[in-house]
Amino acid sequence: MRIVDSHAHLNHEDLLPEAAEVVERARAAGVSHIVVVGYDVPSSAEAIALAARFPGLVAAVGLHPYEAGRCGEMEISEIAALAEHPLCRAIGEIGLDFHGEEPALPERQDWLLRRQFEIARRLGLPVVLHQRESGLRILPVMDDFPDVTAVFHCFAGDGELLSEGLRRGAYISFAGPLTFKKNDELRRLAALVPAEKLLVETDSPYLAPVPFRGKRNEPAYVRETLIALANTRGEAPEQLSEIAFSNAVSVFQLS
Ligand SMILES: [Zn+2]
Repeated sequence: MRIVDSHAHLNHEDLLPEAAEVVERARAAGVSHIVVVGYDVPSSAEAIALAARFPGLVAAVGLHPYEAGRCGEMEISEIAALAEHPLCRAIGEIGLDFHGEEPALPERQDWLLRRQFEIARRLGLPVVLHQRESGLRILPVMDDFPDVTAVFHCFAGDGELLSEGLRRGAYISFAGPLTFKKNDELRRLAALVPAEKLLVETDSPYLAPVPFRGKRNEPAYVRETLIALANTRGEAPEQLSEIAFSNAVSVFQLS
């Protein structure tokens, strides 16, 4: 099996000091490529540095919606500059998040999101979208940027968001929660996604899949999510991994 972990935070302090060992364990598990995803300016710069350090790694750069309250034009132009690097293959993670206490005003998040969609459009890059408690609010943004390919990262939405996203050409990426016992509805939705739109990811160091649930996650564990996805769809893991692999190659221009 060959697998792409389409979303990992190797740039996070929980993984960065051990990056070499983490990449080695990923390779041993068949994970040949990892998309290292930024969430602010320093982590985006680190994502590019990691991609330059290890073959098979590429970067996504972007400002997470949690940054909306503290980021302005300066950070946006820093992200735009990082995005020009040849190893940057997506803008992300960006999106909308109305959970908890940190989020800034919805208008401010919408503004930050759209400014980063503009970078993606200008450079011909896809966007990696984080969505939490934001309902269908991503759809009008996607409609304003119809030529930008979207990836719904760590999909956790409902059937309506799924079908409306697919209608707009989005790729749907599944992470560890697909393996959690209670998530029957998520597995039901995962079985509905056309194979040519599927991606798998860890979102490590967060959300480790079963049987590693509760531990620190890392890219090698994406294998568990891939197998769960194949099982829930009644497909052979080897076959599904080939399709998900070629989907990731085309979205993130992997070689
Ligand atoms: Zn993430």
